Amino acid sequence: MRSSDNCYCLEARIVSNNVSMDEQIELWHERLGHMNFQDLRILGNFNCVRGLPKLGKKANGVCGPCQQGKQTKSMHKKGKYLSTKEPLELLHMDLMGPMQTKSLGGKRYIFVCVDDFSRFIWTYFLREKSETFDKFKMLCTKIQNEMNSNIKSIKQIRSDHGREFENVTFESYCNSLGISHKFSAPRTPQQNGVVERKDRVLQEMARVMLLSNNVPRNLWAEAVNMACYIGNKDFLRPESRNTSYDLWKGRKPNVSYFHSLEASATF
Ligand SMILES: [Zn+2]
Repeated sequence: MRSSDNCYCLEARIVSNNVSMDEQIELWHERLGHMNFQDLRILGNFNCVRGLPKLGKKANGVCGPCQQGKQTKSMHKKGKYLSTKEPLELLHMDLMGPMQTKSLGGKRYIFVCVDDFSRFIWTYFLREKSETFDKFKMLCTKIQNEMNSNIKSIKQIRSDHGREFENVTFESYCNSLGISHKFSAPRTPQQNGVVERKDRVLQEMARVMLLSNNVPRNLWAEAVNMACYIGNKDFLRPESRNTSYDLWKGRKPNVSYFHSLEASATF
């Protein structure tokens, strides 16, 4: 904490262009959910998103909250192999939880769904595992509405054998929509690797945001929701310079309105 005499407001100073390159990189690192510096530079320098300036190399690459919150970094490497050629060919889904702390809204689980081609993510928060099917139906309707003009529909989904996914109601609904449901082999979570990696990325980004803003842990659902929103706009699909948003919506995301709470705080 800095003293109030030493008033410091990076968000305000950036408006007046009174910041160094390092500070500008730091600010965008925070605004984009503590994105790694390498991908951040690619986003800016190759115009992958709208509203992000070109960023140089950061002289000092250490960020306190990232060091604290990203302890499992080496565990999730980016997958290189892409089997799909367009959105909705394959959706990966998983249920995370139960969380140790109930969210502010009383939720304990996160239903995560990832489109294989774009790596676009959807998250829903649940009180009980049994709500999974209802959330899946909601997602199908949402996707159907978004894709209406493109006349595309979900072809295949992949999950583990959890009872929340492997049941008669789930299967008859999938059959009625012509969706093929594949399961990963028991005890081999790597077959569900795309969504497992996203689970960790969301959790990590949420943890870093909670730590850096010093907010109560029961706001984890809000943080995960925000991580999902940011991640869709700043995640670069492996081996490409396209963001998930771009591949899903067909246009570059705008990040010019992103704002960092940490940087605008007066210490
Ligand atoms: Zn950071």
